Amino acid sequence: MSYPKKCTNTAVIAVGANLGEKVENSRKGIAALDASGKLEVIRQSGFYLTEPVGYAEQSWFINSVLIARTRLSPFELLGFLKKMERRFGRVDCGIRYGPRVLDFDIIFYNDWVIESRALTVPHPRMQERGFVMNPLCDIAPDWIHPVFQQTVQQLLNKMGAQHEACIPMEALYN
Ligand code: ADP
Ligand code: MG
Repeated sequence: MSYPKKCTNTAVIAVGANLGEKVENSRKGIAALDASGKLEVIRQSGFYLTEPVGYAEQSWFINSVLIARTRLSPFELLGFLKKMERRFGRVDCGIRYGPRVLDFDIIFYNDWVIESRALTVPHPRMQERGFVMNPLCDIAPDWIHPVFQQTVQQLLNKMGAQHEACIPMEALYN
């Protein structure tokens, strides 16, 4: 099958890391995605230092969000991201929301709504997670959530006070 020359799909991917050199691992992971030839990173947020959610006995996370163009289907993209997580040393420790070298989640894929056992898009918990919504609003505040029919900025405004700390890394050096 011949693919069209242009990469027509736009995906939003959340990146999380809380083991080892977290910023370095995130940078390397994002660079590896971009160098893979499978997707092209077109926009990238800054890094946020965030408090762990769900399973608190672990160190803080570094989170960011990127926008990419890709020819991969959503399921191919999920498989590819999981492969890249493994390449960066992620092993399943059996704890949901537990520590990981790198975690790549698909937040949006075009304006598609996908509900299957392996993949739910938009990501079903994104609107509750400050560590997704804050970096996302920095780079794509007007992106419309295809289920809620609101922009991500509107969804962030609705979140109100957030329990978990989510600090832009830039703020730590000012
Ligand atoms: P989490 O990211 O929620 O902490 P995992 O990275 O271990 O947990 O993902 C668990 C499973 O969630 C994956 O194996 C994947 O099949 C599924 N999944 C469902 N929807 C998505 C999505 N939008 N992005 C990434 N994984 C997803
Ligand atoms: Mg994940």
